[in-house]
Amino acid sequence: MTKRFDGTRDLRRAVDRLARRLPEPLEDLAWISYNYLWSWTPGGYELFTTIDDHRFKLAGENPVRFLLNLPERDLLRAATNNHYLELLDGVARRMEADLARPTNRVVPTGPVAFLCAEFAVHQSLPVYSGGLGVLAGDYLKETSDQALDVVGVGLFYRRGYLHQRMDLSGWQHEYWIEANTGQLPIVRVRGADGLPVKVQVPVWDSELSAQVWRVNVGRTTLYLLDTELQENSPLERWVTARLYEGSHDIRLAQYALLGIGGVRALDAMGITPGLFHMNEGHPALALLEVASQTAAQLSGERPELKKLLDVSRDRFVFTTHTPVPAGNETYSSEEFFRVLGHSIDEMGIVRDELAALTRIDESSSTEPMGFSPLAIKCSRSTNGVSRRHGEVARGMWNPLFAGTLEADVPITYVTNGVHLPTWMAPTMRNLLSRFLGYDWERHANDLNMWNHVDEISDIDLWDARCQMRLQLVEMIRSRVVVDRLARGEDVDHAVSGLDAFDPTNLTLGFARRLATYKRLDLLFHDVNRLHRIVDHEHGAQFIIAGKAHPLDNEAKTVAKNMFTVKRTMDLPNRVIFLEDYDMRVAPALVAGCDVWLNMPRPPMEASGTSGMKAAMNGGLNLSVLDGWWSEGYNGQNGWAIDGSTMDDPHAQDEHDANALYDLLEKEVKPMFFARDSNGIPVVWLSRIRASLRSLAPMYSSARMVDDYNERIYHSHG
Ligand SMILES: *Cc1c(COP(=O)(O)O)cnc(C)c1O
Repeated sequence: MTKRFDGTRDLRRAVDRLARRLPEPLEDLAWISYNYLWSWTPGGYELFTTIDDHRFKLAGENPVRFLLNLPERDLLRAATNNHYLELLDGVARRMEADLARPTNRVVPTGPVAFLCAEFAVHQSLPVYSGGLGVLAGDYLKETSDQALDVVGVGLFYRRGYLHQRMDLSGWQHEYWIEANTGQLPIVRVRGADGLPVKVQVPVWDSELSAQVWRVNVGRTTLYLLDTELQENSPLERWVTARLYEGSHDIRLAQYALLGIGGVRALDAMGITPGLFHMNEGHPALALLEVASQTAAQLSGERPELKKLLDVSRDRFVFTTHTPVPAGNETYSSEEFFRVLGHSIDEMGIVRDELAALTRIDESSSTEPMGFSPLAIKCSRSTNGVSRRHGEVARGMWNPLFAGTLEADVPITYVTNGVHLPTWMAPTMRNLLSRFLGYDWERHANDLNMWNHVDEISDIDLWDARCQMRLQLVEMIRSRVVVDRLARGEDVDHAVSGLDAFDPTNLTLGFARRLATYKRLDLLFHDVNRLHRIVDHEHGAQFIIAGKAHPLDNEAKTVAKNMFTVKRTMDLPNRVIFLEDYDMRVAPALVAGCDVWLNMPRPPMEASGTSGMKAAMNGGLNLSVLDGWWSEGYNGQNGWAIDGSTMDDPHAQDEHDANALYDLLEKEVKPMFFARDSNGIPVVWLSRIRASLRSLAPMYSSARMVDDYNERIYHSHG
């Protein structure tokens, strides 16, 4: 077997280095810290929080940084504590057993390379902005759990996605924090010569150079490309500085690095994928690199690009996440070739042939160039991310398949799912463990197993829900005071946040990227009605969170209007905005809310996943019948707002806002507060059981990865 320089050796060195700093009985902590598997292994968090909860939080829940900065006496104390050593041994043996399982090949010819512009594996590695990244992170974890042969490829954004601060007026400001690579659980991949593995991609007028970082996500490896190198100019180094830069130039450079550089990096490490999975259009230029590799193997005259791509078609599958044409980024051919012309020329590709493939109308010379048409035309399979999104995508891309009826457009769907061990709170996990049987988490997609939730008593289920709500309320109280002080609210108001929320009230959540199509403003459509919903001894309370893209002034205005409305409501502690939404706060929100709201403008929600996370925790969804909810809702497992579309968006908003208020007033609140003689909302609990039974198995990443395996990776046709 040829020796591979894929970072295995570099990781071992980093682990050894960290282990040498630890007392001998704690040495296992070193390798555990360098594999994110700890974050979803039972007991994993406790390994660090029981040493020093506060310091672990300060270290951003990054175990490497935590251990490197821990005073020696704390380490020694843990090393001599038998309870702690037992915990450590238990987690270490469990992780070892998981990592020692044999790997299952997905396709016989090599691993699946999963290419994506963002990955949300853990809050300590902030190379994600929202739903797409969380999906990609959950996918990697699930492929690890199923011992599948998969590698992830992405970019290492040193400053990641924005952090959010609101000012007094409710206007969003952004700031970025640069990562300290020396203290992250990642390692630079080095080659046989001991020097960092590097790849070059021509961008603008010079060579963009990138190094490769390796991250262990359980058994699955994630490689991240990074241009912060001496030999690169300041502009070139900026290419992997931040996610979703506004500049088209930077974005094109990022996507070239991801697609072309990603394939080259795998090559340089001796990894030959049997299949490339392009998750969203950003990595589509990978097609070109593989095509030019194909050309290099052919003798004689080089065939045209289309023919080359026909040869590699069998090795590519594509998942689209965008239900509206505007969401598919396009570029004028002038800007495209200004940035990527040299790359294209160097690969021996004829510019016009490429341009045609990126267009809907191949005979046009003015239509902007897009990655999605290229990916759809050149992959063996394209799928949307929910049943409804599949339909929408078939309609949207019908023009690519001239003469084909919409229903026959070859775009299928695999509905998204979420990684249960990541998103289900310990309280719920512990409760379910008593009823679902041995090793239930490994069978998350088993429909019959979930029928056992009917055996959970009212009192146990209600206790768990109340505990999770209380934990959320406590988190909100501590955060809201600081948020308010930081933006300069008066001290009395800031401190009143300590009494924010009532742990017995109906708690509703709305948290996701603040894009206008998500229609947070529906909630504030009729302030008097909202006021009546919250203003009662048995009232409701709303927790809202989310970030707007820095250039999205419309979305920022929605947030600002919310602040203005909140001020006029004189109930500032019943509707709370939590700043800087990310993976650190998301688990508490999806676990603690009784109702999870989603009001997208249909059909613009391709899938949505936060509602799935809420459902796993016993939260109930109240959502527009769009994305995953249009197939998940069955009449008993939550509430629905009609998902049909109207031509007049204002009329639709009016209609949907009223539907939302009606449901809250007439169904949700009365059901939550209808109690039996023991104070238990019996009907509410039966709805939770219906939700768990029907949604937890279907919207787990276990089901999603099974679907990819059976319907996308293995199907030819
Ligand atoms: C789950 C999640 C999302 C996606 O939420 P949607 O409702 O699908 O938009 C975004 N951000 C974070 C931090 C999440 O955990």
